[in-house]
Amino acid sequence: MNRPYNFSAGPAAIPEEVLQQAAGEMLDWHGSGMSVMEMSHRGKEFIAICEQAESDLRELLAIPPEFKVLFMQGGGIAENAIVPLNLSHAGTVDVVVTGSWSQKSRKEAAKYAAEVHTAASGEESHFTTLPDPATWQLSRGASYVHICSNETIHGVEFHELPDLKALGSDAPLVVDFSSHVASRPVDWSRVGLAFGGAQKNLGPAGVTLVVVREDLIGHALPICPSAFDYKNVADADSRYNTPPTWGIYMAGLTFQWLKRQREGQLSGIAAVQARNIAKAALLYDAIDRSPFYVNKIAVNCRSRMNVPFQLADDALNDAFLTGAKERGLLQLKGHKSVGGMRASIYNAMPMAGVQALVDYMHSFEREHA
Ligand SMILES: *Cc1c(COP(=O)(O)O)cnc(C)c1O
Repeated sequence: MNRPYNFSAGPAAIPEEVLQQAAGEMLDWHGSGMSVMEMSHRGKEFIAICEQAESDLRELLAIPPEFKVLFMQGGGIAENAIVPLNLSHAGTVDVVVTGSWSQKSRKEAAKYAAEVHTAASGEESHFTTLPDPATWQLSRGASYVHICSNETIHGVEFHELPDLKALGSDAPLVVDFSSHVASRPVDWSRVGLAFGGAQKNLGPAGVTLVVVREDLIGHALPICPSAFDYKNVADADSRYNTPPTWGIYMAGLTFQWLKRQREGQLSGIAAVQARNIAKAALLYDAIDRSPFYVNKIAVNCRSRMNVPFQLADDALNDAFLTGAKERGLLQLKGHKSVGGMRASIYNAMPMAGVQALVDYMHSFEREHA
């Protein structure tokens, strides 16, 4: 019996192979006699798990050696505080507001940074477009510029990271890539720090990935909690305090699964990216071809991971969701602030899942239009 297709925005579907492997290793990891959850975080078994996870991730995302990889706790929302606590010493923090998540980041940064400046905002368009980087009002000498590269709720995605140097800024770019991490390659030459909670695309909730350029480490504000000072975390190889050991292990299995992916001649992240492009095209095409379904996001910045859409009549929402569930299509309800539906089609969602959703949308439309 096939498992249903799970379109949750997060915590989200995990590849079945990863769940199977974790189930097989649950009671006895590699003959150690222990579950990963029962191991000392300072023992050789767990250190091996952690080191393997880091090296697989570095290979997958081609992370250059001048970046540290940190596995932290607290999720993306905690990083909204942890980033300014570590990086805001130099002055103004610039935030590009493109939806709910960057709005939250701006608000939280204002608690710690001396000044927070909105460099650009998509608010006027109700976050259906991304402000063109050429129009951003960047501050001189800013500590950093924050963007959310994929807005999970509004469904807008930067298909290319901005090149701050070309825009005349020397500030490091901070990227919240929580909801599309590992869905495509990253141009690290444009990034100072990137963070993401794991529960969208990397595994279970509980571990937060931080990839940070070395020169940005070691400048935390005096009020920064020790466990959140990137220097302490980096110096202790993510074991300053007890890290989320199970989450790191599961993310590690996911990295290996990603490395195994193939699509034609492509492998690893390139294969995953090609598949994600094809999945998103299939779904947006079905929406655009039908007067019954609407996605309001400008075509050039539509998210390949989170696809919000409205039905012609909101009164049909419940019927749509009930019918979807009967067909094994789960968690399609839209975020309360946007309404309608949202299909999150992260890495773990196969093409067949998107096809099943599109088939259902066609049949629902025939029945109700
Ligand atoms: C889910 C999400 C977060 C929040 O993560 P938490 O783990 O709940 O703190 C932050 N940013 C983005 C873009 C997200 O999608």
